Amino acid sequence: MYTQKNNDRFLNYFILNYITNLVTQQLYIIQGLMKFFYTLIFALISTTILSQNTYLHCGKLIDTKTGTILTEKTVVVSGNKIIKVESGYLDGNPDDITINLKNKTVMPGLIDMHVHLEQETNPNAYLEKYTASEADVAYNSVGFAEATLLAGFTTVRDLGGSGVNISLKKAINKGRIDGPRIFTAGKSLATTGGHADPTNGNKRSEIGDPGPKDGVVNSIEDAKKAVRQRYKNGADLIKITATGGVLSVAKSSSNPQFTVEEIKEITKTAKDYGFHVAAHAHGDEGMQRAILGGVKTIEHGTLMSTKTMDLMKKYKAYLVPTITAGKEVTEKAAIDGYYPAIIVPKALEIGPQIQNTFSKAFKRGVRIAFGTDAGVFKHGQNAKEFAYMVEAGMPAMTTIQCATIVNAKILNMRTQLGQIAPDFFADIVAVNEDPTKDISTMENVVFVMKDGKVFKQ
Ligand SMILES: [Zn+2]
Repeated sequence: MYTQKNNDRFLNYFILNYITNLVTQQLYIIQGLMKFFYTLIFALISTTILSQNTYLHCGKLIDTKTGTILTEKTVVVSGNKIIKVESGYLDGNPDDITINLKNKTVMPGLIDMHVHLEQETNPNAYLEKYTASEADVAYNSVGFAEATLLAGFTTVRDLGGSGVNISLKKAINKGRIDGPRIFTAGKSLATTGGHADPTNGNKRSEIGDPGPKDGVVNSIEDAKKAVRQRYKNGADLIKITATGGVLSVAKSSSNPQFTVEEIKEITKTAKDYGFHVAAHAHGDEGMQRAILGGVKTIEHGTLMSTKTMDLMKKYKAYLVPTITAGKEVTEKAAIDGYYPAIIVPKALEIGPQIQNTFSKAFKRGVRIAFGTDAGVFKHGQNAKEFAYMVEAGMPAMTTIQCATIVNAKILNMRTQLGQIAPDFFADIVAVNEDPTKDISTMENVVFVMKDGKVFKQ
């Protein structure tokens, strides 16, 4: 039976419940509205940031395509791309960033076709082969990559290390560390006892029998497997050591070390993966085999005959001179104990000849790329090569074209790198002086942008 008291109790309960529900509902609505506004504000801010462009006011701007210097230009960067190059000094919206480079010479980010980011010359380098673990190599390479980028080299081709260079590329691409864009060969390919055999100079019990997995090739079958292994490991191209070299613990600096058939198999297999092949070569015979075998670039080219120069022209191969490395090994070989004894005579024979060969090859019309072999000397000093090339007879503007538009073409990036033009990556550097008047200004890059981000200003 219902009593008045029970009725009241029920009514009270009902009203209380109703009010609680109402309040909760309204709280949900308020919460929802707040969420909506937050999202809206966040979206507005992000859009503003994303659409924020950078306007670079360039007093002088090098057009690498025509080899001319333009004046008073504005380069507009949005995200990681160049979107416009306009005459005069233009300003964007109040939110956009303006960078004043009116008293600088601006050019595309430089490209070095021959570096080794895993190593840097030092008197203990040969001991470190036994004492440094992969992690040590990796930590060291972080500083080398940064020094390279800050010197204005926004792209490099890493021509050989242990494979840490592949991890380095990944870390840079993910933005975890600062460094250039890397196109890497991973581990170089050699023949047994050849320049890049990883156990050269070891005691017999440590020599082992490295094979294609470790980058050692001795047959057509090995050649296929070694290239495919590099693909699997994450390399972007293939490097072979077609002749002996200076800094390996082995007798000859220049003997041929592959057969033409092996090289042909390497370049043929590389093509399946979209890779080009670079060949280290000091000696003439090994160089000829490499060219006939279809390699794209000859590194160093020290003892190149005129016959081989003509072969280079016929096969459209490029010479990557590395004059700076030649100068450095000559200098270091004079320091007692800096290199192991077996290396000293090789360094003194090869080092001093590189610049002269470059000069002859250039004058004969051989295609020239820009590459230094940084690591054989201190990383970040790559730009020394420009003055050496000019000293050997190449016009300053041509050296800059080699380091931009020519190298971009070899890397199959000619529509994305090597020019300051719409749709190209925003890799832009600047120097204080006009390099056609003073080439040494290239050694003092004062502004570096890579992928639209400023790293040095
Ligand atoms: Zn090298």
